[in-house]
Amino acid sequence: MKFRNFRMVSYVVYGRGSFDQLDEILAPQRKGDAPMIFLVDHYFQNGGGVRNGKSLTERIPLRGKDKIIFADVTYEPKTTQVDKLAKELKDEFGTVSGIIGIGGGSVMDLAKAVSLMMNNPGSSADYQGWDLVKLPGVYKAGIPTLSGTGAEVSRTTVLTGPTRKLGMNSDFTPFDQIVLDPELCANAPANQRFYTGMDCYIHCIESLQGTYLNEFSKSYGEKALELCRDVFVRKNTWDDECDDKLMMASYAGGMSIAYSQVGVAHAVSYGLSYLLGTKHGIGNCIVMNHLEDYYPEAVVEFKQMVDKNKIDIPVGICEGLSDEQFDTMINVSLGMKPLWENALGKDWESIMTREKLRALYEKL
Ligand code: NAD
Ligand code: ZN
Repeated sequence: MKFRNFRMVSYVVYGRGSFDQLDEILAPQRKGDAPMIFLVDHYFQNGGGVRNGKSLTERIPLRGKDKIIFADVTYEPKTTQVDKLAKELKDEFGTVSGIIGIGGGSVMDLAKAVSLMMNNPGSSADYQGWDLVKLPGVYKAGIPTLSGTGAEVSRTTVLTGPTRKLGMNSDFTPFDQIVLDPELCANAPANQRFYTGMDCYIHCIESLQGTYLNEFSKSYGEKALELCRDVFVRKNTWDDECDDKLMMASYAGGMSIAYSQVGVAHAVSYGLSYLLGTKHGIGNCIVMNHLEDYYPEAVVEFKQMVDKNKIDIPVGICEGLSDEQFDTMINVSLGMKPLWENALGKDWESIMTREKLRALYEKL
């Protein structure tokens, strides 16, 4: 097919406090006594997400055999973690009515992947790639508590597997429902909020300056970029309006890359993440800090945002690495062909040589 015909999230609810509508939203999705499984970011294990005196976990509308599982997202999601969760749920319940992910991008991805693995045989590692998933998963809903990744709207779930870090990209991957309640992001630490927010800013830059751009991507990308600038450039103090705006920026940024691609920062950051385990948001920031040759104006603006918001961006993370380790990162990065092609055009291989990429990694 010449033009991408992509599936989107089926239902969206947006608004402060919309989380409390969850019981009503889930009721028609319940299948007999099969439980709903709430996969919740471990951050909320000790409170957080308080409204009217009740914490987020106390507000989860548990019925019958429903279960809350706290997800440890110290490390980004792995295929082994997904397989284990899906197996445990199948062993305990046979089937479930749905998987509800509540958390940052990591939990969004875990929830999508576990939902798919409830109905697809084998290991999630078998489905890392494009359109390999054959069967729809169980019902899945995403409720983000950090804004920026766009994982709430994307058709992928990024997993680290035995041989690579790659998404399960498929028409069965997008959520059936998302609940966008900006109040849930209220207490995110400033550094984390910035790193994840910059994921969105960088998605916009990479999409808007990429060769794959079309009017669909541009419309969403420009809006998302405007919202990012509102919160990180124009605002002097963080308030509720910032959380409201950044949540919509994440949504629109995700929609923008649905019809284009990311670029240099992501391609380089994937290498860091694979070798050093650097997390997605901070990894993108570490790379963006040194991309003046590729995105000159955006890098100036990025640095202003870092200063204004008093954020720490690590430097020197590649110091002392061996030639072999640099090679590993270079191989992972150059393997992301569509990202490089989007960023640098069809001749990208003659522009981004191994030597050039090595020099870039050495700067980080
Ligand atoms: P994250 O989900 O990894 O969470 C980062 C930290 O913030 C964690 O310690 C978490 O416990 C904590 N946290 C979450 N919500 C919080 C809150 N409200 N208050 C305080 N702390 C909170 O971070 P992220 O940047 O949202 O997501 C990164 C992940 O998203 C990576 O695994 C990346 O691969 C993935 N990703 C996926 C897509 C996609 O399209 N599927 C796109 C981009 C990134
Ligand atoms: Zn990203």
